Amino acid sequence: MKPMAANPFSRKQFLRSAGLITAGLLLSPRRIFAQGTSPVITIKNAAATEPVNVQTLRGNMHVLSGSGGNISVFDGVDGKLMVDAGIGVSKPRVEAALQQISNKPVKYLVNSHWHFDHTDGNEWIHQAGATIIAQRQTKENLAKTIRVVDWDYTFTPAPAGALPTILFDAEHRLQFNGSSIHMKKYAPAHTNCDISVYFPHADVLHVADTWWNPYYPFIDHSSGGTLSGMISACNHNLSITTDKTVIVPGHGAVGNRAQLVQFRDMLLTVQHNVSKLKKEGRSLPATVEAKPTRLFDEKFGKFVLDGAFFTKLVYADV
Ligand SMILES: [Zn+2]
Repeated sequence: MKPMAANPFSRKQFLRSAGLITAGLLLSPRRIFAQGTSPVITIKNAAATEPVNVQTLRGNMHVLSGSGGNISVFDGVDGKLMVDAGIGVSKPRVEAALQQISNKPVKYLVNSHWHFDHTDGNEWIHQAGATIIAQRQTKENLAKTIRVVDWDYTFTPAPAGALPTILFDAEHRLQFNGSSIHMKKYAPAHTNCDISVYFPHADVLHVADTWWNPYYPFIDHSSGGTLSGMISACNHNLSITTDKTVIVPGHGAVGNRAQLVQFRDMLLTVQHNVSKLKKEGRSLPATVEAKPTRLFDEKFGKFVLDGAFFTKLVYADV
């Protein structure tokens, strides 16, 4: 078998994730890492030129993509509400995308969890007048130093202006633009602070990084994520949606319930396969070599994580 990369977030994966290919920055992955650059820096640099696209859903809902995680935008007479902030250096392109929707100001920014590709833009969006809402643990994670080993990066405390100021524990409702927006914390899944945001007027559910459509998801063990939590989050999402619900994943294409079922079933099958191999006494390298994800690699292995890396994450969790 091929040796596992020393840094489990492989170079090729981060090239894809960072949009470096579409940005025309065909730097050799080996060169990026030889220079000791964390993927976090690489992703931020890529976002500096990546275009930001607007997809219009229904009920004045839109999704911006191209600056880290997907950003949902709800526009209306009261102004705009964003779910997630993207990468700070995308500011001019995010501003232009928001203006393309309307000239209403951003009143609220909701953070789906603490990860930088969803919160790095917090400070400028707050400075532009938005109040930031988050689950309490998101603020706590942002306010402290956290070492994410898989990203070879130490996050230092965010500046005061980037910290959420409306905090909740289990759930929060906000009346805005005539809708009753419902934020709800998941049990630890992708991290220890993931929330869903539901827009009942449009039947749109933003599920953040509990779903990557259609890709193997990252599970952040450094901040409380687990595979069984991811599966529980999917089951919860399936229990509160119908075939008509529009579901916004943290990364990848806006999707529907049938696609989320496929993702959940993939998680269950890989969990079963890896668990069986581990119980037979196989080491991690031997488990990776057995390719327990092979039926799914063609469909799910084309973004940040390939089958080998996903197997490694799952092995730690079964
Ligand atoms: Zn994340």
